[in-house]
Amino acid sequence: MIYPILRYGHPVLRRKGAPILAITPEIHQLAKDMLETMRNAHGVGLAAQQIGQALQICVIDVTGIKDRESKMWIGGKVVVPEEYMPMVLINPEISGTKSKDIGPEGCLSFPGLAADISRSQRVRVKAKMLDGKDFEFEAAGLLGRAVQHEHDHLHGKLFIDHMPQAERRERRQEIEDLKTEYPE
Ligand SMILES: [Zn+2]
Repeated sequence: MIYPILRYGHPVLRRKGAPILAITPEIHQLAKDMLETMRNAHGVGLAAQQIGQALQICVIDVTGIKDRESKMWIGGKVVVPEEYMPMVLINPEISGTKSKDIGPEGCLSFPGLAADISRSQRVRVKAKMLDGKDFEFEAAGLLGRAVQHEHDHLHGKLFIDHMPQAERRERRQEIEDLKTEYPE
C-alpha cells in the first residue's frame, strides 16, 4: 500500500520513534508499504514518521543512482552497496566521523527544497534486519548521507535543523511556505 507522505508541519515528524521490540507480521507489512511508498515517490530513503508512525524503522535504496556514489564496508571490507539494497533498518544506531562532507540534500517531506548539509564523511551503523538478525556496516557517500538523514527522522530531527543559522534565516519564508497545516 502506498501511503501519503506527510509534509513538514505534521507533528509526528518531530516525534522520536519508539524502539521496535518484536518483528511482527505488522512490521513486515509496514516495511513493505514503506518501500512501495518510497519507490512511488522516487526517494532514496523513508522513515516511519513520514507515513505517520513514530517507530524506529526506515528504508533506504540507492540503487541506480550513478551521479552520487555510495560506498559501503562490512567488517572493514569494501562491498557493493547495490547488493544490500533495499535496506530495511530497524532500531538503527549510528556513530559518525568528526570529519564532515557538505553535500546536497532533499527530503520527501519538503517537496522542492534542497540545501547543502554537513554530515559525517563516514558512519558506522548497527541495526536489526527484518529477519531479526543484527546488521553492522559502514557507509559513506550518498548511502552514508541517507543513513544519517533517516536516522535523524527516527529521532524527530529534520534536515533543515542542520542548515547553518544564517541560511535558515535567509530561507525562512521558503521553508514556512512549505509548512502544511494538518487538522488535530
Ligand atoms: Zn527526509
